[in-house]
Amino acid sequence: MDLKLQGKVALVTGSTAGIGYAIARTLAQEGARVIVNGRTKAAVDEAVERLRSDTGGAVDGYAGDLSRPESAEEVVRLHPGIDILVNNLGIFEPKPFEDIPDEDWKRFFDVNVLSGVRLSRLVLPSMKKANWGRIIFIASESAVQIPAEMVHYGVTKTAQIAVSRGLAETLAGTGITVNSVLPGPTKSRGVGDFVQDMARANGKSFEQVEAEFFENVRPTSLIKRFATPEETASLVAYVASPLSSATTGAALRVDGGVVKSAF
Ligand code: NAD
Repeated sequence: MDLKLQGKVALVTGSTAGIGYAIARTLAQEGARVIVNGRTKAAVDEAVERLRSDTGGAVDGYAGDLSRPESAEEVVRLHPGIDILVNNLGIFEPKPFEDIPDEDWKRFFDVNVLSGVRLSRLVLPSMKKANWGRIIFIASESAVQIPAEMVHYGVTKTAQIAVSRGLAETLAGTGITVNSVLPGPTKSRGVGDFVQDMARANGKSFEQVEAEFFENVRPTSLIKRFATPEETASLVAYVASPLSSATTGAALRVDGGVVKSAF
């Protein structure tokens, strides 16, 4: 299938590793010009180099914290005409509800929600001019099944779905679509390191901890394993494509069936 992404300009936030990197790689493979983002120049340069040599595609980089207004404004100024915005960057941290101070709630909202709201606002004028665009929020199954171990994270993911639907409503009748994609437990760098550390601390293998996680913490998973970042990237590439033009205002799951609902 030709996804018809040739020449489209795509910004993927937080894409030096994990799900973001896999999305950037898939979009570059499909012919999009991709702007990779991370917070340090070293990480961005390394990811750009790797993506260029792996895909032979047109890959640029932007080093900066895109949860900050100045950086968001700068990336859009340096790379005008963004056709596809993937709001991927996000943070998580397990913490008991009573121990989550206001500062953490505000930080999670800033990084996980407001970053995508702000970037969407900044790219919309050029998308409207072209009457074409794709805005994709990488939310989570945690938006639907709020995890008791990090309620604040779950709340920000629910908020992303609400923003995505609301923004799609404002764009009715245009060629711009807005959707959220909900991965389930995925072996990204962040989660992979977390599980590896847990395994080491308890004298277990990664596979043992993975099996226990799906037995005790996410028993509703139908695939009984962590998904790969590439599995999310495939869905995102379709949603980013002109082929997905009738899909908008939707919350699309790539969660291994962990949300116990058919729709
Ligand atoms: P990760 O930690 O493996 O990678 C995240 C990337 O974002 C890294 O390159 C990091 O440096 C970068 N980043 C973080 N904050 C940033 C900032 N302020 N500015 C620029 N870059 C920043 O993460 P991941 O697990 O791949 O998660 C990506 C997205 O997917 C997040 O929004 C997360 O909530 C969501 N998600 C992840 C999982 C999972 O199990 N991994 C499940 C559901 C949803």
